[in-house]
Amino acid sequence: MNDNFRHQGLRLKLVELLRNKGIANDKVLMAISKIPRHLFLDKAFLDFAYQDKAFPIAASQTISQPYTVAFQSQLLEVKKEAKILEIGTGSGYQTAVLCELGAIVYSIERQKELFKKTSLFLPKIGCYPKKLIFGDGYNGYKSEAPYDSILVTAGAPFIPKSLLNQLKISGKLVIPVGEKTQIMTLITRISEKKFKKIEFGEFKFVPLLKEKN
Ligand code: SAH
Repeated sequence: MNDNFRHQGLRLKLVELLRNKGIANDKVLMAISKIPRHLFLDKAFLDFAYQDKAFPIAASQTISQPYTVAFQSQLLEVKKEAKILEIGTGSGYQTAVLCELGAIVYSIERQKELFKKTSLFLPKIGCYPKKLIFGDGYNGYKSEAPYDSILVTAGAPFIPKSLLNQLKISGKLVIPVGEKTQIMTLITRISEKKFKKIEFGEFKFVPLLKEKN
């Protein structure tokens, strides 16, 4: 697949922009400099791929804004071999960034069309998540729990209990919480029953939908 010097140059510019916007984690910036974001969009949209913007993909969904992907990835403090569950595979861009950071990634998507498309696409760019799952992320993915981290990439009206239950002790949940706009929220599991919550700024995501919506 075509990834040439021009694309690489555009990515380095994007990385500089993200650094200027406050993303300081070098591993995250390095991952973004490596993942060919233009290949996640249709060819006609090449010029948009390296702008710091969300962009429409199939099934009325969006590929998250690079700043948002970087911000969420930074909050996770991904360690090599960390077991991570992502809710909302979408285009697979965030999935690819997590894989590049060395995580063992499980990712759930509720739109069949996107699930299929992304399952076929990721191996083509050499990205191999441990498992892509077609299903409802509100339930997490119990058969592989507990996880070092869980990352929700759609706006959640509330924090689903099942996700809290599927965290390891000292595990982290990064979840944007809210209806129209969301507050980026980091929850750390301190003990079996105790959780610590820290809130960050406002973001805007497509909604985390329930089965019938
Ligand atoms: N991480 C993606 C972001 C895609 S937007 C990327 O980098 O491209 C959010 C995604 O969450 C959409 O694909 C949407 O279909 C999915 N989604 C919404 N509700 C969901 C649910 N309940 N379970 C799983 N996925 C869901």
